[in-house]
Formats: sequence, C-alpha cells, structure tokens
Amino acid sequence: MDNMAIYIDMSKCTACRSCQVACKSWNQLKAEQTENRGSHENPPDLSANTWNRIRWIEQMKNGSIAWTFFSERCRHCDPPDCKYMADTYVEGAIIKDPSGAVLFTEKIKGIDPDEIMSACPFNIPRYDPKTGMAFKCNFCIDRINFGLPPACVKACSTGALNFGEKSKMMALARSRIAELGDKAALYPGEGYNVFWALPDKELLKHI
Ligand code: SF4
Ligand code: SF4
Ligand code: SF4
Repeated sequence: MDNMAIYIDMSKCTACRSCQVACKSWNQLKAEQTENRGSHENPPDLSANTWNRIRWIEQMKNGSIAWTFFSERCRHCDPPDCKYMADTYVEGAIIKDPSGAVLFTEKIKGIDPDEIMSACPFNIPRYDPKTGMAFKCNFCIDRINFGLPPACVKACSTGALNFGEKSKMMALARSRIAELGDKAALYPGEGYNVFWALPDKELLKHI
C-alpha cells in the first residue's frame, strides 16, 4: 500500500501560523520565551518544543520588500539519513514506520546528540539536555493511526497543508506546479514524505 504524505503549497500560505499553534496544542509542547527581532517571524528557530514554524523570507522586489513563507519541518525522508546513522549505534533508535513517518524513540538517548543533529541534511532535530532526547515532528502518528489528519493540516484553512496517500499528494503537487508556471518547483523531491510546491525557485537559496 502507498504510504502517506504531507504536501505543502507555499503559494497558498498566509503565515497565519495556526499550524504552529496546533502542533504545540496536540503534542502538549511548551510555548517559547521570544523577543522582537525586527521581524514577524516567531519563534526564531525550531526547538525541542517547536516542531514546525513559518519562516518569513524577505526579498526586495521592484523597490519594495516582498514576503514569501516557508513551513520548516522534518521531511520524513525516504530513505532517512538520520535512521541509517542511528542504526550504526543503537538498532531501533529511529524507526521508519509503514505510514511514512520517521520516528525518534527513547533509545535515541544512547546516541551522542551531535551525531543525531549532524546526520540530518536539513538541520531539523533539536536536543533537549533535560530529557537527553532529540525531538522533531512525529507526523502526528498518534492521529493518523486513527484515521485523523495531522493537527497542523487540520488547522490550515487555506489549503496550503494537505495530507493523504503519497501518490495522490505528489499528483496534486505536480499539477499545482504546472499551474504556477516556470518559476515554480517541487522541493525537496520524490524521495520524501513531506514535500513542497514552491511558487518561485529563487526560494531554494533561502531554505
Ligand atoms: S496554517 Fe496553513 S496558511 Fe497558516 S501558516 Fe500554516 S501553512 Fe500557512
Ligand atoms: S505533523 Fe503533527 S507533529 Fe508534525 S508538524 Fe504537524 S502537528 Fe506537528
Ligand atoms: S529531515 Fe532529517 S530528521 Fe527528518 S527524516 Fe530526514 S534526516 Fe531524519
């Protein structure tokens, strides 16, 4: 059977950040203490308590500032580099679930956190010294196993976040990219269970 996937259409994202709030609410993740950095982007980075966030990418266009948004999160890679690294130390520390999710388990505590961080080509996992665990998006495995969409997808009212069988999600992405025209691009590619339609390839320089 086809595994599941999240398809993200950045051309439909309004940066409302309901997805950020929904992730924290469902997964009972603490809010972060933040400060004004001269940007609407908040919080400033992923953390052990922030598993997705909207990046605000500012570009000068025709003499004025234009914003484009990017939903930063785990790609649930297929195959996942983090799992292959973990298997060399502790078998089963990182699991590739049949749903498409890549999941960190408690066994990850037995692995040097620097190894976990450096194994991810997308700089996604974050270490929590209090628990000795590394954390990232878990694909809402505890929702999708009961037929519910991930909390972030459920909270997105614009159609930017979509969830379903991978082949259907990839077809949606390909169709949307064709609609958006030559500047649009699929990111990061086919070998991932989270993928994006970017309205402009220029964004690849900022991701
Ligand atoms: S909920 Fe949807 S529209 Fe709002 S920030 Fe997240 S992806 Fe963008
Ligand atoms: S899939 Fe679930 S855990 Fe992952 S970012 Fe969305 S709400 Fe958070
Ligand atoms: S994005 Fe990084 S943490 Fe997520 S599955 Fe891929 S290698 Fe692992």
